Amino acid sequence: MESSGTPELKVAVVGCGHGELDNIYATLESECERKGFSSRDLDFLIICGDFQAVRNELDLNCMSVPHRHRKLGDFHKYYSGAAQAPVLTIVVGGNHEASNYHFELYHGGWLAPNIYYLGAAGVIRYGPWRIAGISGIYNPRNYHKPHSERLPYDRDDIRSVYHVREYDVQRLLFLRSPVDIALSHDWPAWVELFGDHKQLFATKPTFLTSALANSLGSKPATELLGHLRPSYWFAGHMHIRFEATVELEEGAGIYDALKRLEDVPEKLRALLPRPSGSSSVGSAFTAKTEFLGLSKVGSPTFQWLEVRNLGRAPYNTNAPHYSRNTTTGKFDLNYDEEWLAITRACFAGLQIADPETLVVAPSRGKKVAAMTLDEERKWVKENIVDKGLLSIPRDFVAHAPVHNPDLVVTPDMQPLEYPNQQTARFCELLQIPNKFAMPSVESTEDAGLGLL
Ligand SMILES: [Zn+2]
Repeated sequence: MESSGTPELKVAVVGCGHGELDNIYATLESECERKGFSSRDLDFLIICGDFQAVRNELDLNCMSVPHRHRKLGDFHKYYSGAAQAPVLTIVVGGNHEASNYHFELYHGGWLAPNIYYLGAAGVIRYGPWRIAGISGIYNPRNYHKPHSERLPYDRDDIRSVYHVREYDVQRLLFLRSPVDIALSHDWPAWVELFGDHKQLFATKPTFLTSALANSLGSKPATELLGHLRPSYWFAGHMHIRFEATVELEEGAGIYDALKRLEDVPEKLRALLPRPSGSSSVGSAFTAKTEFLGLSKVGSPTFQWLEVRNLGRAPYNTNAPHYSRNTTTGKFDLNYDEEWLAITRACFAGLQIADPETLVVAPSRGKKVAAMTLDEERKWVKENIVDKGLLSIPRDFVAHAPVHNPDLVVTPDMQPLEYPNQQTARFCELLQIPNKFAMPSVESTEDAGLGLL
């Protein structure tokens, strides 16, 4: 299997997690056994949002779900250490999340041991493989807004906190080198037109209604797909399994490809954006993206769980500093050099509400020029790569209260913020200000513990 030195990648992908980790890992094990191996032979498992990293009852009050449907789920056991994730699990956020916890880990980090969240947007490395993700779902009303939600959330915050922001998409659009795997919760808009949309619209007529109302899928995700041209794009949210193949020709963008499609219903074709040429990362070559949307746990297994051998990394094979194997024969997760440079170049434009006044300061964001990015790449090389600091530390600590069944929590109660030390350390590593720190409790690692 391993002739060229780069091992083949075995992954599993789940659409929506919906808090059912026990079921996911058990089903994954039996699926792997059916194929003659164990889930421990997998490199990693991907969960495309609605992960529901609910640590305790108060986190549940930060999730956008009607009260009667709120369920604690399984995650709290993985958080407290009562259960262990048997396989490295990589997740993006969806629209049903413990949004307060995801916000703490805005730059990405360990939600629990062996469970890594990519952040509002993020790029990481697994050996030679490069994985990018965007969390949340697209809503045009909040797209251009800052990240203004801080605890306690009001009814509006609980819904807007998971809406994708332009700032985070823009950072991914600054990437100049190819990505292998991209993840989102909602599907890229119009991706269905690259697959059997007739069958899809016949099974789900409401999808066609939404498409005709120009509101099916995420338009920023389409931009990203056209720009990043990843080999694979995985998503959840729509609660149906769907495959599509997006082929982009040399020098052409995704809207050119959409325009070339032949059997698109006329009413839908009239809504498609005009091709505008392409300056995307891979526009110099023909690119093919395999899109796979998966359903939620609880539907028939083939609808929500996919175990796949992705072969060898098509790009980035010459990346020795990412490719040190651990003793288990797997790779460590690494930060991505280019992404770190972009994070540094863009941090001034990140708008977060002040935790005490809840006011968002006006953006001091400077326009990021190619030159800035080159300088930041150099900084990252000297200060992180050359110092051997690219490997993502396995530094998870449970810092918020674990679930306590005796505690009485009413639906209107909101948790405090629990400043996350992983975020603090990440900002220290990049030498950027930590906009997520709480001024009064910044220095005490376990601040807030015992308050429940
Ligand atoms: Zn879902």
